[in-house]
Amino acid sequence: PETKLPGVGTTIFAQMSALAQAHQAINLSQGFPDFDGPEALLSRVDHHIRAGANQYAPMNGVPALCEAIGVKVERCYGRRVEVADEVTVTAGATEALFAAIAAVVRPGDEVILFDPAYDSYDPAITLNGGQPVHLQLQPLGFAVNWDEVAQAISPRTRMIILNTPHNPTGQVMTADDLQALSDLVKGTDILVLADEVYEHILFDGHRHQSVHRFPGLAERSFVVSSFGKTYHTTGWKIGYCIAPAPLSAELRKVHQYLTFSTSTPLQLALADYLSANPEHDEALPAFYQAKRDRFNSRMVESRFSFTPAAGTYFQVMDYSAISDLPDTEFVLWLIEHAGVAAIPLSVFCRQAPEMKLIRFCFAKNETTLDQAAERLCKI
Ligand code: PMP
Ligand code: GLN
Repeated sequence: PETKLPGVGTTIFAQMSALAQAHQAINLSQGFPDFDGPEALLSRVDHHIRAGANQYAPMNGVPALCEAIGVKVERCYGRRVEVADEVTVTAGATEALFAAIAAVVRPGDEVILFDPAYDSYDPAITLNGGQPVHLQLQPLGFAVNWDEVAQAISPRTRMIILNTPHNPTGQVMTADDLQALSDLVKGTDILVLADEVYEHILFDGHRHQSVHRFPGLAERSFVVSSFGKTYHTTGWKIGYCIAPAPLSAELRKVHQYLTFSTSTPLQLALADYLSANPEHDEALPAFYQAKRDRFNSRMVESRFSFTPAAGTYFQVMDYSAISDLPDTEFVLWLIEHAGVAAIPLSVFCRQAPEMKLIRFCFAKNETTLDQAAERLCKI
């Protein structure tokens, strides 16, 4: 029988992490910290488990966490959200992205996305009968060409997917980008799905341009984030989606049958920590910029070339001075010859342009970064 997802294999993240383990390489491929979140957060999990918070959470999320999310969004972006109707807690951002797409994309609808695109978007569109419309961003700046977007819009366009700060490139959108999008969709019924999971990780004074700041976009958007990135807890898989009540109502119809709800003690622990430590996310830019700079200051001695990432915990590097191999082969070579695992960029593109770029995750302890850079400087 015909498969529903031809061309989809195991994700590059699972593949590379498995290879890294098999070769005992330093794993800078799949994006996750090699350190824990704050002790004060971890201990709250234990507290809530011991206190008996071990049964189903309310479908839309634990109220205390939804409230804390509302407070955070107002503090960071000045947007007041109706928590009961507009905030939904999900099993990671991954579930929120899928549920938003499944909730509104009908067979034959077109969804515009920008390559390189995070790998879960296209299969979610395809599984729901939608037609992905891939627009290629050009290296090295990977900026969106809004005239091209205007040309790609058709009467069938249902949704446009944004991701800023951007995985895998580390680029961030400007206020002009969001304004251009806002102008483009004005007066249409096009929806926006904004993947803002790296909303707190921006460098060199860049400010996160959230859809929350643009009323013309917020009124038609699903805005998705993840506690995994902000609290160094990717394995907890707690994320959320904020959308106007009518869109949230549709999203919840999917969410209730996809997962119904997500972990109770973890949500309660996050609620406690968020409320007590609003300064945590304000400290993240400096925290991750120090890691980026440590890694990059050692990598200037290597044959890789790069411009520092503006956001996320990923640094893209060009290896054209080292090898002519395509990036998917170069990362295999690199594991064997340098003992470091990375992610090739072409796998995030439907039709990759000529580029020799790979992505390193720098959400790592200093010793990990130093050892990796030392190995990479030898090749
Ligand atoms: N979107 C992007 C751009 C990501 O990088 C990730 C995580 N790596 C996700 C979504 C998924 O987030 P979560 O782990 O919370 O499901
Ligand atoms: N988003 C993470 C990354 O970019 C991986 C998440 C996953 O493995 N599904 O590396």
